[in-house]
Amino acid sequence: MTMDVHGYAATSPESDLAPFQFERRDPRPDDVVIDILFCGVCHSDLHTARNDWGWTTYPIVPGHEIIGRVTSVGPNVTRFRVGDHVGVGCMVDSCRQCAACKEGLEQYCEQGPVFTYGGVDRQDRRPTHGGYSDGIVVSERFVVKIPDGLDLKGVAPLLCAGITTWSPLRHWKVGEGSHVAVAGLGGLGHMALKLAKALGAHVTLFTRSPGKEQDARRLGADQVVLSTDAAQMAGVARRFDLIIDTVPSVHDVGPYVPTLAIGGTLVLVGYLGNLDPMLNTVPMILGRKSVAGSLIGGLPETQELLEFCGAHGITADVEVIPMQDINAAYERMLKSDVKYRFVIDMASLKA
Ligand SMILES: [Zn+2]
Ligand SMILES: [Zn+2]
Repeated sequence: MTMDVHGYAATSPESDLAPFQFERRDPRPDDVVIDILFCGVCHSDLHTARNDWGWTTYPIVPGHEIIGRVTSVGPNVTRFRVGDHVGVGCMVDSCRQCAACKEGLEQYCEQGPVFTYGGVDRQDRRPTHGGYSDGIVVSERFVVKIPDGLDLKGVAPLLCAGITTWSPLRHWKVGEGSHVAVAGLGGLGHMALKLAKALGAHVTLFTRSPGKEQDARRLGADQVVLSTDAAQMAGVARRFDLIIDTVPSVHDVGPYVPTLAIGGTLVLVGYLGNLDPMLNTVPMILGRKSVAGSLIGGLPETQELLEFCGAHGITADVEVIPMQDINAAYERMLKSDVKYRFVIDMASLKA
């Protein structure tokens, strides 16, 4: 029995998202059937809906910050029961066999993970559709548990914005006494501030807008540095063990590199493409500094993040919208007019 679901889809790069009815697969033995309660709105949703990266197939139902309640489970499911609150992030499958998958780094699967939307199911070859809908069917391995006590709508963005910043914080072993800087204060940046602070780091925000200082401090920044002010930048020379660069567009990474400590790393998490101007290797070589990249996080690391957020009471700052307002929300996101993530209340689909 396939499941009829309602959602919102884009049908061309120019079209607004609009109501769309489609089918979810007949649940397999390891599948969890989820009634979607909330879905965060990521910049990738907008870029995919508008084919900004050139790989979209239409119709497309975006959404990969999914929070829901389990309504049924297949006979082989062991970790979830009906009624559990669960999450689904950016991936719904991978080869499960390669070295990356065996390590729980499904995002780096050698065959490529199956993304939650815009992917192709490995078994039935049907296109995958995301969380702007009232239900989804996902293999247990790609479902995470939501700890009790967290506000569910604020948990949704942990599944992309949260894990995208958590994974580099963990990989580069940020902890008590680390010096961490975050470039850019949007959906990703605001999570990076909260998570780095909770890990015990001394946290700095790099920003181009002086108006962000108060908010940044509320979110966990100990210091705010105007990246356009050469004197302020010189004041933090050789300071940071890790810089998480969340800037989503082409930008000059050059001014940040001198602020890395010897052996420090700047990790890009928000921008795909060539840097412009090109990176100068001199300050990197003269201080054994790295410029790196990182993509979301694997399933074990995502579960670890959720447990950490449960223990520390961390959620995203969100603005809840009805599904019907998604097109206006996209326009506001393009102007960075959201603090700091839109989250769709899926009850609005039934209204
Ligand atoms: Zn995302
Ligand atoms: Zn794999």
